[in-house]
Amino acid sequence: MVNFRNHTSIIERHREMRASGARCARSTAGGPVRWHAGSGGGRTQIATSRAADDSGRRITQQSRNCRDVRHHLVGGWHCVEQIYPHATQYGAIAALVPGFAFTARPLALRLLHRCRYQRVSYATARPPPYVLRSQTQPRRSTLHRLRLSAAPDAAVTAAPSSPLHTVRHRLQAWGKAFRDALVAQLQRLPPHAFRFGIFGLLLLVLLLGWKRARDRQRRAERERKMRAIGLAPAAASHGTAARRESIQTRVARFYDLQSELWERVWGEHMHHGFYGIDGSARDKSGQQAQIDMIDELLLFSSANTLLQESIGIGGRRVRVLDVGCGIGGSSRYLATKYGTNVSVTGVTLSPVQASRAQVLHRERHLHDRVETVVADALALPYADGTFDVVWSLESAEHMPDKLAFMRECARVLRPGGRLVMAAWCHRECPPTLSRADIHIVEKMCEEYCIPHLCALSEFENYAWQCGLQQVHTADWSAAVAPFWSAVARSALQRPALSGLFEGGWPLIRAALAIRWMIRGFRRGVFVLGVLRATK
Ligand code: SAH
Repeated sequence: MVNFRNHTSIIERHREMRASGARCARSTAGGPVRWHAGSGGGRTQIATSRAADDSGRRITQQSRNCRDVRHHLVGGWHCVEQIYPHATQYGAIAALVPGFAFTARPLALRLLHRCRYQRVSYATARPPPYVLRSQTQPRRSTLHRLRLSAAPDAAVTAAPSSPLHTVRHRLQAWGKAFRDALVAQLQRLPPHAFRFGIFGLLLLVLLLGWKRARDRQRRAERERKMRAIGLAPAAASHGTAARRESIQTRVARFYDLQSELWERVWGEHMHHGFYGIDGSARDKSGQQAQIDMIDELLLFSSANTLLQESIGIGGRRVRVLDVGCGIGGSSRYLATKYGTNVSVTGVTLSPVQASRAQVLHRERHLHDRVETVVADALALPYADGTFDVVWSLESAEHMPDKLAFMRECARVLRPGGRLVMAAWCHRECPPTLSRADIHIVEKMCEEYCIPHLCALSEFENYAWQCGLQQVHTADWSAAVAPFWSAVARSALQRPALSGLFEGGWPLIRAALAIRWMIRGFRRGVFVLGVLRATK
């Protein structure tokens, strides 16, 4: 193995190479004197001179003139450091080792430039090595240091044994050359540039992190908005049991919290009021408007005929299911209006509502015909065909899976029974909802615990899909729109205000959300849809 360490001159190097068994030769062909050393199949040109003297003395002379030749490892590379105080033109500078000359070339050139050798060129001999020459005489007064990257020892020994080996070595060499060049560049930078660089890098990392977080947030927000307007019902309804449960838990908590105050201010009905089909009949109380809403719905659905006839299955009582019954306002109203042959079962998710409803049933002496239970409308605990009328007054919007909800309603209806529904919807699309519209819908859904809204036509489609017949829908938005202004006014009255302060932020938030309802109706984004269907 040829070890380039500790040589003191080219001649000595040559001698040592010979001693180590390398074949050395002197060639004079083409003018320059070349000294070659080879080991195994490898062949290394170690020095060259264009001196007229072809005896090699010039080289020797030059090597002697050379004040110092040092070889040492820098970053895994052999560095040949030759110091020529009186170098002649075309002085032999160095030889690079085959296979690594190519890699080392740019680095060597740069180093030569750094050492103030100018017009440095390289000439290739075939097969390599590349020979570097400097055509400029260095300043005498200065000791010029020339560093050339040569090959690591192992590579000097012989030509690489396999192509894989070569590739690996080249990659390593490139990596090292790159690292060295980088280090050299960095060392040339003034210290503050380094600090600025690090600061810039940190800033970049922060910016990228911030951008990623923002993108993620936007995506989530867009998804939520899409769900809010029902454009991605599949995604919303595909929810796992846990997800559905979480929505239902939220709904239950929402009504647990709100119901008492609502009852105190507005009474037992928790739905819109009806102000004439065009909303012009405003000279009535909110409570009266709510009763009118029930009556209008009975008329619209012609469920009143069925209830008046009071003919249930097999001549028994007419059974009504009030799905999403609140504190049982509608249940009691129907039971009272249609007499003793009607029994009503209400279901709600809120235990607070259910227990309050039971108390009110008892107070009105209706508890033998009216009951309220805590149950999920998506999994009703009743057999198929149990009810004559399924009544859902403003509860369908809370359902995470509207189709499943309609299926359940249809399932528990007896053949010929009537489904009556009023639900919060968004307007029909197209035209697609604007960003502002979507924002309002989203806010409203957020504040009133609604997983997503859909258009009235979707409810109609679902009804058909569930095998229901004589499906009819109507848009009652104009008729109910004045309701929210009345709610807003009532929220400013003393009972409401004291209740809001007692209830704390969730109630205040819900009260503030009234503005979204008013805006939604004004812009025509919200629709109060009604639907009737027969099984
Ligand atoms: N229909 C009532 C109350 C409307 S408020 C009235 O007019 O006064 C909405 C009601 O729907 C609440 O009582 C709530 O508990 C109920 N609800 C929402 N999602 C439900 C679900 N998945 N199952 C059963 N009830 C539900």
